[in-house]
Amino acid sequence: MSDEPIKLAEGMTAARQSGRIENHVCEFDVCGKRAPFGFAKPRQPSHWLCFEHREHGDSYLAGVR
Ligand SMILES: [Zn+2]
Repeated sequence: MSDEPIKLAEGMTAARQSGRIENHVCEFDVCGKRAPFGFAKPRQPSHWLCFEHREHGDSYLAGVR
């Protein structure tokens, strides 16, 4: 019989840390990229856009379509 210590899988801790990152997706048509840019006005739902489409987020804030 062996007396080796039990090791936990290293992937478990990595998965825990990545779960803390907010995972928003660009809402511009069918883009679907990761969207680190959030645009929000009081009393309105926030919009999330990727780097490519963040200029459209500016128009959300300005009220121009
Ligand atoms: Zn986009």
